[in-house]
Amino acid sequence: MIQEIDEITKEIEKYADKIEDKTFLITGGAGFIGSWFCDTILSLNGKVICVDNFISGSKKNIEHLQRNKRFKLIKKDFCTLKFNKKVDYVIHMASIASPPLYQLHPLQTLDIGYIGTKNALSIAVKNKANFLFTSTSEVYGNPPDDQVPTKEDYYGYVNSFGERSMYDESKRVSEAMIYSFIKKYPSIKFRIARIFNTYGPRLDQDASQYGRVLIKFVQQALFNQPITVYGDGKQTRSFCYITDQIIGLSKLLLEDDLPFNIFNIGNDKETSILELARLVKELTKSKSEIILNAKPNYDIKDDPRRRCPDISRARKYLGFNPKINLNEGLKRVIEWYKKH
Ligand code: UDP
Repeated sequence: MIQEIDEITKEIEKYADKIEDKTFLITGGAGFIGSWFCDTILSLNGKVICVDNFISGSKKNIEHLQRNKRFKLIKKDFCTLKFNKKVDYVIHMASIASPPLYQLHPLQTLDIGYIGTKNALSIAVKNKANFLFTSTSEVYGNPPDDQVPTKEDYYGYVNSFGERSMYDESKRVSEAMIYSFIKKYPSIKFRIARIFNTYGPRLDQDASQYGRVLIKFVQQALFNQPITVYGDGKQTRSFCYITDQIIGLSKLLLEDDLPFNIFNIGNDKETSILELARLVKELTKSKSEIILNAKPNYDIKDDPRRRCPDISRARKYLGFNPKINLNEGLKRVIEWYKKH
């Protein structure tokens, strides 16, 4: 994974002096994306205070950091944490992002989007710290075809009363709260990344039955078990490799002047779930059978049909340009999975 960190730091070296000796509060820092962010900051000599309650984060993601003097872990629910330390940046990533897992913990999912975001924003204001919130493509809900690829100014077609609403509305209320803070505190930098499906080593490390589709398929293929496609497999996602995602998030946080607060960060190559299943099977040389209309282990009633970001804003203002295609990224994930 040293290769991944090198790839990231090479792309964000120009911000090195904004990171060195600065303190970053990272909520959800033991999660998949959070832990990669911790690694990146530490490798550029920043300091990290990581807060995680391990509902979906994993100790394995951060155990290699525990001896680093610049890394501090607070094992607490951020919603109830009294936090008085001085920080230069607040990165609010804590959330439960896997559909089966947020359906299992609906109230915690809502709390972190309301109470957690309010706490994180208050800490940013108190410290005059730059603020980054990781929102989601789910704020767009289930967009019609003429809104795919989806731009940041599309308002969304979201069910507020259903099996994905605890997650989608939690992120939407966070965005609304950030909007209010921007009005009230114009001198502080508030940034929002709308993240599309992201994958890489450490994805859903401890959560096999609650895992996201890509890691589930890799696991099923490597064990020669049936690959379980829900529905007809024509639904799409756009998969962004973790290094590209971290580069995009870092640029969004650290770039000085931007004319927008919200940026889609993801890969804009759209792939159907059936294509993904076939590619995983091919790359693992698996004997698994691909099953269509498999029985889901969570409620897929509001499963979005298509998800693909329009990333022209991020390309233009951040110079964001995802480099790792699905073929290459999957090969790396398969290697990582085999070693674990
Ligand atoms: N999916 C699937 N088989 C599985 C798990 C998920 O076909 O075993 C599909 C799911 O219906 C959805 C897509 O894969 O259309 C992505 O699901 P994921 O859980 O990764 O998260 P989402 O992108 O929906 O938040």
